[in-house]
Amino acid sequence: MVHEKNPFVSIVIPLYNERDSVLPLFKELQEAIRGLPSYEIIYVDDGSNDGTLESLKELQGVGILSFVRNHGKSKALEAGFAEARGTYIVTLDGDLQDDPHEIPKFIAALEAGSDLVTGWKVHRKDPFEKRFVSKIANGMARMLAGSSVHDMNCGFKGYRAEVAKGIEFFGDMHRYIPAVVLHQGYRVSEIPINHRERKFGRSKYGMWRLFAGFFDLITLLFVRRFFDRPMHFFGLGGLAIGALGTLILIYLSWLRLVDGLTIGN
Ligand code: UDP
Ligand code: MG
Repeated sequence: MVHEKNPFVSIVIPLYNERDSVLPLFKELQEAIRGLPSYEIIYVDDGSNDGTLESLKELQGVGILSFVRNHGKSKALEAGFAEARGTYIVTLDGDLQDDPHEIPKFIAALEAGSDLVTGWKVHRKDPFEKRFVSKIANGMARMLAGSSVHDMNCGFKGYRAEVAKGIEFFGDMHRYIPAVVLHQGYRVSEIPINHRERKFGRSKYGMWRLFAGFFDLITLLFVRRFFDRPMHFFGLGGLAIGALGTLILIYLSWLRLVDGLTIGN
């Protein structure tokens, strides 16, 4: 880490049980970002129980945040963003699947005026079922959340710091960051990146977690479309139910007043 008050770039890396990737990733990173004017590396250990934190503590000149228990990638990113002091923030996965040599490309795109640059795993090195579910999720997110990004959930992203720090995280919404940022009116671009197979450890996002991600998409839709004006959503249902109630009341009043029936029965 180059020690400076405000580094040019903060690299934020979330890790959950990635012990064996820690050292090789650090070595690769150092080599890949040598050319940057200044940087800091912030690792966020998301409650690992495989010795990831211990491995991180062996590294020199890096920042480490750690959770006592697993809170999920969204919370890990949020914590990293809060601590980051760079002009730009770059995130990448801690499992060696994202190639650190791509980092300068993200910086170049940010310098060219993007507020968020998101990676696109053009040749994704993941099992078929994952690619499949992810295609559907991306398609839905594109349609519903109104974004043109191919690969929303790519862990490799570059941000202008204030954009990253302004994101409100809930659930596993890190999957939809480009949609959220786009909705805020920022400029979002995407760049193809080199994606690699997982070498060590296991994926934390199987089919179920991907599926659960749809619920976060629905939440997101509410946030996007109805947050500022909840009556646009709840109002219609309320109006319909209210109207039905009124009709029933008029009918019952009619029975009582005109036909003279006891309506208690
Ligand atoms: N991760 C995390 N907290 C979690 C799950 C995952 O910090 O609860 C990290 C994980 O260690 C990795 C990145 O998020 O660095 C992406 O996770 P993973 O590689 O398991 O996802 P995949 O690449 O299989 O979609
Ligand atoms: Mg991975």
